[in-house]
Amino acid sequence: MVITEDGTALNAHVPNSGWPALVLNADFRPLSYYPLSLWSWQDAIKAVFLERVNIVAQYDKLVHSPSLEMKLPSVVSLKTYVKPSTHPAFTRFNVFLRDKFSCQFCGSRDDLTFDHLLPRSRGGHTVWDNVVAACSPCNLRKGNMTPAEAGMHPSQMPFQPSVQHLHRNGRLFPPNYLHDSWLDYLYWDTELEP
Ligand SMILES: [Zn+2]
Repeated sequence: MVITEDGTALNAHVPNSGWPALVLNADFRPLSYYPLSLWSWQDAIKAVFLERVNIVAQYDKLVHSPSLEMKLPSVVSLKTYVKPSTHPAFTRFNVFLRDKFSCQFCGSRDDLTFDHLLPRSRGGHTVWDNVVAACSPCNLRKGNMTPAEAGMHPSQMPFQPSVQHLHRNGRLFPPNYLHDSWLDYLYWDTELEP
């Protein structure tokens, strides 16, 4: 388990008693891997009745209304394909995700913050290819120096990641709970790799 600077676990928290439904796109891939796309059972049922989703798999748990009885969906798929955005937003979270929540100088996962490779005081911008995850001690040590001046080089040069890249990294941090019926849709593409 990975712990962020404010002490929260990075594993997406999934209640194992709430019958959440895994939400797949129309191509049967999860809408999002990290955080994993999950709906409450109430939202999943609503979407079924609005005919926005198909039920792919079900829990054994039954719900009743005066006129109907149905099993709660454990996996649903959208009827209309949602095109994933190609350029992920430049956010704090996504930079951490690109860098796998580890300091790009020493690998530490504690006390994470950001470093501008070319410091802002030297004209560096806050953009994908100038910002890396760095622990506070490394950040402090590097100060207002360039990587060459500080003799500190990031383990990978920062870049603008694709959504697929972030998805791939997100799968390194699986939720604390995965229902059996979800597994077929979560890891098949990695398991098929030779
Ligand atoms: Zn560090």
